[in-house]
Amino acid sequence: MCGIFGIYPHKEAAKITYLGLYALQHRGEESAGIITYNGKKPHLHKALGLVSDVFDEKNIKDLKGELAVGHTRYSTTGSTTLKNAQPFYVKSKGSHIAIAHNGNLVNASRLQRELEDKGALFQTTSDSEVIAHLISHSPKKDYQEAIPWALSQLEGAYSLVLMFNNILIAARDPLGFRPLCLGKSGASYVLASETCAFDLIGAEYIRDILPGEIVFIQKDRIDSQRPVIKKTCSFCIFEYIYFSRPDSSIFQQNVYSARKKLGEALAGEFPVKADIVMPVPDSGTCAALGYAQALGIPYEMGMIRNHYIGRTFIQPHQAMRDFRVKIKLNPVKTVLENKKVVIIEDSIVRGTTSRARVKTIREAGAKEVHMGISCPPLVSPCFYGIDFPTKKELIAARHSVDWIRDFIGADSLKYLSKEGMLNAMPLPKDKFCCACFDGQYPLEPPKKISKYILE
Ligand code: AMP
Repeated sequence: MCGIFGIYPHKEAAKITYLGLYALQHRGEESAGIITYNGKKPHLHKALGLVSDVFDEKNIKDLKGELAVGHTRYSTTGSTTLKNAQPFYVKSKGSHIAIAHNGNLVNASRLQRELEDKGALFQTTSDSEVIAHLISHSPKKDYQEAIPWALSQLEGAYSLVLMFNNILIAARDPLGFRPLCLGKSGASYVLASETCAFDLIGAEYIRDILPGEIVFIQKDRIDSQRPVIKKTCSFCIFEYIYFSRPDSSIFQQNVYSARKKLGEALAGEFPVKADIVMPVPDSGTCAALGYAQALGIPYEMGMIRNHYIGRTFIQPHQAMRDFRVKIKLNPVKTVLENKKVVIIEDSIVRGTTSRARVKTIREAGAKEVHMGISCPPLVSPCFYGIDFPTKKELIAARHSVDWIRDFIGADSLKYLSKEGMLNAMPLPKDKFCCACFDGQYPLEPPKKISKYILE
């Protein structure tokens, strides 16, 4: 789970990238970084924390150059350390190479072993580092051959924004798991995980980087290669359900509309005669709207979100009951008192926050609490870039829906069926990876960790 961004050529490349990362903050809150290149040398600044914590006027001013690559990180492999923060930078055979990666490689351990045998020294525990080493170990000298060669060694999910001296490069794995869009702002080309980043900087969306495509952006030209064309693709369906921002278009379709359709589909399968429909803000908001409109039930905000919680807050010494839950979402008693409530959430992972929400709504006076989930039960971990816990911790992998209903304390619980979810999607069914719902992995999971994760 990461956000990636790139721009070239632009006089304020670092500043625009900072804004782009701001728009992509939801894709990763652990670290942020920007690298620029001014034709002579690179300038890199990265640190742990939110984009607004990591950058200020001064360090952005020091990032000189018309080419910039940015990254926000939410780790799926590797720990939360500064070393693992991206973009990664290496100088190899006189070339300056930087990498911003969104996704997860499934053959990273094998590639790392092979590269180490050839003398590569790894500095991080992130799978993305192998990409830098592969480029620098390429038997091909020319970047137009070296980069396709390096990418041809990779298996897994990768949307990439790369810097190779003064060339900005975008690439997507042949199955296209994660999104990556190309835009234009004046004379500058822009790359971003999601189109919401283009809206903020006033760039125009041109097209998606295609699965298997590599795009080379130079000051005065743009070239594309597509060495691998697969008949199928594996777009991550969870990007539509939870991960991307609703104001974005990914895989060429708007996320807000897709989420509303999921809510409408849920209404068809779970038509509760309730007094009010409410979302878990913000994750369930669009689906709850679709659900309420389909059934003609009043849509209310039964819980209000506090938007000012930083990453850490000072906990009271004396343990206050449900403090963590309450500080984020507070119930509106007058909305909930004596009501039969349907609460809509996008997904249940471990079940612990859903349980706390139901309890809060009951304590605020709701008469009945019914819960609708706008996707099927999550039963299998993701190996392609979404941060889910191990199978053991995924509540639906071990328990029936009835058991989960009792655990979260709802009067009824309904997950949207897989069929209902796929029919609600704006693209044909066979375009999606649904492995988290059905365990059908389009690429074999990495052997070493999958035993532990899938047990
Ligand atoms: P829980 O009831 O504890 O399983 O929490 C469910 C909440 O986690 C929902 O609000 C989801 O939107 C959210 N969620 C879904 N997937 C993830 C993820 N990979 N990482 C963090 N939160 C997630």
